[in-house]
Amino acid sequence: MERRDNTALQDTHFDLLIIGGGITGAGAARDAARRGLSVLVVDQGDVASGTSSRSSKLVHGGLRYLEQGEVALVFEAVAERRVLQTIAPHLVQPMPFLFPIYDDYRMGLFTINIGMWIYDALSLFRSPKIHKKLSQKKVAIVEPGLLSEGLQGAPLYYDCATDDARLTLETILDAECSGAQIRTHTRVTKLLRKDGRVSGAKLEDQLTGEAAEVSASVVINATGPWTDWTRRLSGEEVRPSLRPTKGIHIVVNASRFSVNHAVVCLHPDDGRVLFAVPWGEQTYVGTTDTDFEGDPNEVCADHSDVKYIIEATNTFFPDAGLSLDDVVSTWAGVRPLISEDGAEDESSVSREHEIYLSDDGMITIAGGKLTTYRRMGAEVVRKAVAVLKELELLPDTLRSSDTQKNPLPGAVSWPASGGLDTLVQQVVEIGEGQIDERTAKLLSDTYGTRSLHIAEQVSAAHALGEPLIEGRPEIAGQVEFAVNSELARTVSDVMIRRTQLFYRDADQGLGAVDKVAAQMAGMLNWTPEQTQKNVSEYRAEVERSRCWRTG
Ligand code: FAD
Repeated sequence: MERRDNTALQDTHFDLLIIGGGITGAGAARDAARRGLSVLVVDQGDVASGTSSRSSKLVHGGLRYLEQGEVALVFEAVAERRVLQTIAPHLVQPMPFLFPIYDDYRMGLFTINIGMWIYDALSLFRSPKIHKKLSQKKVAIVEPGLLSEGLQGAPLYYDCATDDARLTLETILDAECSGAQIRTHTRVTKLLRKDGRVSGAKLEDQLTGEAAEVSASVVINATGPWTDWTRRLSGEEVRPSLRPTKGIHIVVNASRFSVNHAVVCLHPDDGRVLFAVPWGEQTYVGTTDTDFEGDPNEVCADHSDVKYIIEATNTFFPDAGLSLDDVVSTWAGVRPLISEDGAEDESSVSREHEIYLSDDGMITIAGGKLTTYRRMGAEVVRKAVAVLKELELLPDTLRSSDTQKNPLPGAVSWPASGGLDTLVQQVVEIGEGQIDERTAKLLSDTYGTRSLHIAEQVSAAHALGEPLIEGRPEIAGQVEFAVNSELARTVSDVMIRRTQLFYRDADQGLGAVDKVAAQMAGMLNWTPEQTQKNVSEYRAEVERSRCWRTG
């Protein structure tokens, strides 16, 4: 397979320049490219290196938004949940949720159950499954570790779990297949203006130092928590439009603490919602929601964040006895929430998105959720199309939006029956003895039908079936695929967002980093200095994610 050259731009003028390769920019790029617009997406880091790889990884209506009266948001989100299950069945999978209700909660089981009926009704009763009300006794059977004292019972309902970074990546890859150009590790350092309008941007490649200028008929700012930073790049004073909040998660091995469902808990100190989510051989728990000021690049979990989550876990699962030593890894993200005058409590700030056209012609999209990204993308592109029309620059070939019908790359040729199980068997067969069942499952879960391509590569070159870490399922073939077919340019891209070794391995993949760097160096013609720099940068990322240990 030909590797695409990330550093060369084939054009210098585009209908749309999208700044930000998070889920919001990805959704816009996919919609626009499929409609026939020429699109360039740039991100200062990797695809999804911002908030879009640091979420709770749920595609959900958001039960708690119902309580905040955001019925339209919930309705839209549950409709999108269904669309995403159809276009990305490998990445958006039904997950059972248990919401235990205790005597000291503000709302009892009866009231919450009415809420659950509304939740099911808003999905037009097309949830993965309709909810059930479980008695205290039943809860003790299905989730035996849960605190039983004061427990009234629990609704069992269904939402979906996803891999946020991969959902973003596959959305971007689909945009690329439809003609969009993607430049990762490329920062917009200045917005260019012509006749009072933002007309393009100065770009700087963060890995090579190369600079370039591009022009675009419309520029979309989809930079999430960096939204206001980006608005200022045109040289104008801007009032802050965001109220960013930080959220962290901790990862522990399922052998230390496991749950059979995603369990929804209200923190005993402040009533904030936390999820304990089964994650293959791990479990993750989060999240916090605290105001965040500062550079989103620097966000990390601190000691009090981790303690806050461990305390809640040990309260609701009294036998878990989790301690700081059990934490394998953490992640922290910044929510790009729209600032609302008068919202006192961080958790009550709206998760709705906003799209606005500035006087200088730049379109900004901010806020929203991972779950609703596809609709947000379609909406911002409609706005861009309106501007192009006004400027009389609309291409004649413009098509209508079709993102709700077409599969993401890993769902193309999805098995007609058996879904993931069928895929796992096919991967094992094609791997001809080089891919065991555990690796085949990992590949199928991660890449969907694209796992068959990796299996073919392994069967052609057996070294690609070698594990990256002895005893773990990740293989060298994934590194090759990441570089050749998934826009990975650095060791951190591969370790954090392509293979997840950063989160899942007991030593966060440090035992594999030299091997991965050597493999990438061979493919990307790195000098020894470049290879060493990549290794050091990855080690620094691991250190930053562990800063809570010393704080
Ligand atoms: P980002 O993903 O941050 O993307 C912005 C991109 O812009 C970044 O990649 C950045 O590198 C790039 N950028 C910035 N400046 C520049 C520049 N000058 N030049 C080039 N590129 C630039 N939503 C859900 O639906 N379900 C959930 O379970 C969920 N859980 C969440 C939990 C937490 C803790 C958090 C923080 C959020 C959660 N969300 C959830 C919300 C969701 O994750 C975010 O709304 C979404 O990821 C935001 O995506 P984005 O593309 O707008 O921003």
